[in-house]
Amino acid sequence: MAKAKAKVKAKKYYNYIGGQWVPSVTGEFFENRNPADTRELIGLFPRSTAEDVDRAVAAAEEAYERWRLVPAPKRGELLYALGQLLIERKEAYAREMTREMGKILKETRGDVQEAIDITFFTAGEGRRLYGQTTPSELPNKFAMSVRVPLGVCAIITPWNFPMAIPAWKLMPALLCGNTVVMKPATYTPLSMINLVRACEEVGIPPGVVNVVTGSGTEVGTPLIEHPGVKLVSFTGSTEVGRKVSEACAPTFKRCSLEMGGKNPIIIMDDANLELALDGAIWGGFGTTGQRCTAASRVIVHKKVYRKFLRAFVERARALRIGNGLDERTEMGPVVSEQQLETVMHYIEIGRKQDGAKLVCGGQRLTRGKYAHGYFLEPTIFADVHPEMIIAREEIFGPVVSVIPCRSLDEAIHIANGVRYGLSASIYTQDVNTAFRAMRDVDTGIFYVNAPTIGAETHLPFGGMKETGNGHREAGVQALDIFSEWKAVYIDYSGTLQRAQIDTVEISQ
Ligand code: NAD
Repeated sequence: MAKAKAKVKAKKYYNYIGGQWVPSVTGEFFENRNPADTRELIGLFPRSTAEDVDRAVAAAEEAYERWRLVPAPKRGELLYALGQLLIERKEAYAREMTREMGKILKETRGDVQEAIDITFFTAGEGRRLYGQTTPSELPNKFAMSVRVPLGVCAIITPWNFPMAIPAWKLMPALLCGNTVVMKPATYTPLSMINLVRACEEVGIPPGVVNVVTGSGTEVGTPLIEHPGVKLVSFTGSTEVGRKVSEACAPTFKRCSLEMGGKNPIIIMDDANLELALDGAIWGGFGTTGQRCTAASRVIVHKKVYRKFLRAFVERARALRIGNGLDERTEMGPVVSEQQLETVMHYIEIGRKQDGAKLVCGGQRLTRGKYAHGYFLEPTIFADVHPEMIIAREEIFGPVVSVIPCRSLDEAIHIANGVRYGLSASIYTQDVNTAFRAMRDVDTGIFYVNAPTIGAETHLPFGGMKETGNGHREAGVQALDIFSEWKAVYIDYSGTLQRAQIDTVEISQ
């Protein structure tokens, strides 16, 4: 996190605590720069610390006592208004998002659209939020279960979906009656601030939504460890997710974790190869490969392997790389210098340690229009062995490993041979093959004849193995993260009735 240099004239942004836009307690800021052209300073954002976290949690705790009593349909109505405002602001928010994180306009519009979709979907839950009624085993006794909120939720998010991911968490948290303290990634605070400004404008009461910007250690750690926080909803790397899980364990604090992926596309010998190529290009290089669901492995049947590889390399080389604000650009920069170095490091590992065959890209672009950004060539390694590091670890950049296979069984074995389990896909014309793969690949999301990316907000989203800890976001399933179940029994018999004790006369 670059500390702001003195005398920089740039727009200053603030934390949102208890309905007020306030600087950090220390008064320090950090810079947010455009990764396509680092000469452009997007703004200065509060470099916050534990004291700011304390204030935000206190504001959220206070607001909770009122917000939890607002009827869910009324909370839902505020979300409808919010969704409408996001529609009106979509283009402006998308442009600001492209400037702060680099992905192309089509995709940042999609990011805001995802936020809109989850907002409307969740708003509708305000008039459902179903519990159950069920017969009691005793006469003159009523039994039901209802959802209740937990209290203050911490929401910690990554930079690759700077509005969609906060929205996925925020909407169900609010709808269930919780209040929140959110911390964005340091590369993308503006998109979260835009989302929160919209919450303020539609009249979500002060203290219900709070934002504190700053680093993982200075803000994230005190936030997850805060005793006033009852739930942590985290999306990010598996390494940091593990720390969140450990920090929550001593007090059994609920935490939902959405983490890394190493997602495979399987291309069988009967696949529509053109369709599979479209999918592999979009899945591998969309968002510059910086998606948790990116198709970073392509497992190809040996009968079509050479033909696919030739065309894949040709298509990747033809991708137009540049500033995401240019509508013709197909792939933007990576988000930061640090991310660029990580990706370059993996390319070196692929080349040297793994000994894989680099057939496309592999270089940083530094000339002309690329001189001031973090641009990389789309990179393809061929004839990759599944045990190689580049085939097992999440690189989170525009790097795809193409792995040959001889059968469906082998493809499934390779697909399952990593510690992650987020998304997978298969290209085949055979329904039997498709169903077998759907059953046997261990991922939370599975596509047939489509790439590994493209989740819709009304279906559950999340992964198995070290991608998640058993929760699912989006869909109605997200309500299970943000609410507790309460079982309620109402005895109107006027006598003491004992469950499981056989006192009921059953007449024949
Ligand atoms: P990251 O783990 O570095 O950071 C995520 C968030 O956690 C950031 O806000 C960061 O500041 C914060 N953080 C960092 N250290 C912390 C600590 N010690 N305590 C508390 N908070 C801390 O991840 P990133 O680089 O921002 O995002 C990329 C990762 O996110 C990739 O691994 C990607 O797969 C994953 N991701 C997963 C999903 C999913 O739904 N499964 C979606 C998007 C991204």
